[in-house]
Amino acid sequence: RQRGSTPDYGAVINEAYRLYKNEPGGKNADYIPFLAKVNSDMYGIVIITKEGKIFQVGETKFEFGIESIEKVFTLCMAMELFGDSVILQKIGADQTGLPFNSVPAIELNGQKPSNPLVNAGAMATTSLLTSYFGKADAWSKVNAYFAKFAGRELPVLDELYKSEAATNQHNQAIAMLLKSYGYMYDDPLYACDFYTKQCSYGVNTRDLAIMAGTLANGGVNPITKERLIKEKYVPKVLAIMGTTGLYETTGDWMFKVGLPGKSGVGGGIISVVPGRFAIAVFSPPLDKAGNSVRAQEAIKYISDKLAANIYSGR
Ligand code: GLN
Repeated sequence: RQRGSTPDYGAVINEAYRLYKNEPGGKNADYIPFLAKVNSDMYGIVIITKEGKIFQVGETKFEFGIESIEKVFTLCMAMELFGDSVILQKIGADQTGLPFNSVPAIELNGQKPSNPLVNAGAMATTSLLTSYFGKADAWSKVNAYFAKFAGRELPVLDELYKSEAATNQHNQAIAMLLKSYGYMYDDPLYACDFYTKQCSYGVNTRDLAIMAGTLANGGVNPITKERLIKEKYVPKVLAIMGTTGLYETTGDWMFKVGLPGKSGVGGGIISVVPGRFAIAVFSPPLDKAGNSVRAQEAIKYISDKLAANIYSGR
C-alpha cells in the first residue's frame, strides 16, 4: 500500500473476481437440503471502506442464507448486553480444533461451549439473549439489532428455515447436552430453534459487507453512522473471529490471510481490516471445513494486494 494514496479497491476486486470465477473446487453444503440447490457458479465480492464507500462485482444482490455469519452479530448483541467477561465465563473464547457442530468438542473442553462461533457456543449465546428479553420480545429485539447492522430489515428465508428446522436434530442434541452441563441459559430447544431462524436470514453480499464494515469502523455502521457496539468490545469480537471464524481451519486461514473472518455454510465469508475496510464474498461451493473456496481465495488476494494483513505492522 502506498501511504497517503487511496487504494484502487475497484480494480482489486475485479481482478479477484476474474481470477477465481472459474475455480472448480468445493461443493455446496448438502446437509441442509435448501443449500444444496443454490447455483454453485454464483460469485460476488463487495468491499466497504470505513467511510462507507462501496465497491462491488458479480452477483452481489442475490439473497442467500447468512448461516454461521449470524453468530458474529449475536455475539455483538450479547457482549453489549452482558459485557465481555460474561461472554468469556459463560461461553468461552477458545478454538476447538474440531468441526463447527462437534459433540466431542464439548466433551473434550470441560463440557463448555468453547466459543460463540461454533454451533454449541452460538446456541448458548442465543439463549442468553432469549432469556434476557423473554419469549414474547426476543425475536423483535434481535431482528431490530440485525437490521441496524445491515441497514435494512433482513428477511427470514422461509424455505431455508423450514428445510433446516426439519433436519436440525444434531443441533437440538447439542443444545440438550449443553443444558445438562449447565451451559444453556434458557429453554434449549427454543434457543436451538431461534438460532436456526437466525441462520436462515437472507442476506446479499452488500448487506454482509455493511455488517462487517461496522466492525471495521470501530462499531459504527459506516452507512447509517449509528453506533451498534461499544468501541472497546470490537477488538474482542474480532479476536474471537481471528481464532475461530473459519472453524478448525482458522489457523491455516490466519497464516495465509492474516485477517479476522467469519464463514457460513451458505457460501458467505466476511473479513475485517480494522480501521480500514471490510470485505464480503459469496460463492456456495465449500471446502471440507465448510468455508467457501472462492471466497477464501478472493479475500486472500485482496488482503495481499491491499497490504491488509493485520500482523504486517504497517
Ligand atoms: N445453521 C447451520 C448449522 O447449524 C450453520 C452452520 C454454519 O454455517 N457453519 O449447521
